[in-house]
Amino acid sequence: KISLRDVEKSYGSELVLRDCNLDIDDHEFVVLVGPSGSGKTTLLRIIAGLEPVSGGDVYFDDVCVNNIDVGDRDIAMVFQNYGLYPHKSVYENMAFGLRRRKISKSEIDERVRQAGELLGIGDLLRRRPKQLSGGQRQRVALGRAIVRDPSAFLLDEPLSNLDAHLRVQMRAEILKVHKTVTATAVYVTHDQVEALTMGDRIVVMRDGMIQQVGTPDHLYDYPANRFVAGFIGTPA
Ligand code: ATP
Repeated sequence: KISLRDVEKSYGSELVLRDCNLDIDDHEFVVLVGPSGSGKTTLLRIIAGLEPVSGGDVYFDDVCVNNIDVGDRDIAMVFQNYGLYPHKSVYENMAFGLRRRKISKSEIDERVRQAGELLGIGDLLRRRPKQLSGGQRQRVALGRAIVRDPSAFLLDEPLSNLDAHLRVQMRAEILKVHKTVTATAVYVTHDQVEALTMGDRIVVMRDGMIQQVGTPDHLYDYPANRFVAGFIGTPA
């Protein structure tokens, strides 16, 4: 369980997040959605431990993690630019993060092959990233997160570099992976349709504040204010 309590973030004198309170249950798929600059990425980076909070607290299973480094949080991140190592094979890209841990070679091998099968890239393990399509690269980035077997996946606009058709296909793929590995997912997008089709619950953000949290049906039927109604697309 991930909890935010009165989380606040400022850069210099600019307050970019305030009064952020949120509880994310185990195995939930939660989507942070809102216009550009609303603070989605900043909130995700705070959950990851890539940014310190300026105020408030972040809890993982009721333990405050404010002072716990990103490497010691039980999470894996997936970014929109994939962040793959160009000179390493697909296999090594997925295995790399495990090499520093106390995990046996055979266990690493097993995890990489299983993730490869799950994502349909089992026969591409020897290739380099530049020999892959955009969708295949995104699968490798997902695979690299899966092999770590984290409690939570944090995904920042992972599909925004893909064309529309592939994006729709990969949404289903990500949901399938989420079901299979039974982890929590926090997913950032500015795309309302993506939010409504993927989220168990949606967090609508604007100007650094959470406007409303709810299931897609709830937000659609009972938007808390005009902004949410307009953003989610409820007919006026
Ligand atoms: P987008 O959809 O465009 O990625 P976002 O909702 O993810 O937007 P953030 O990237 O979280 O928004 O940015 C929120 C605000 O914080 C913006 O006004 C941005 O300019 C500011 N900001 C983000 N990172 C920094 C930083 N490192 N230094 C200063 N300001 C920052």
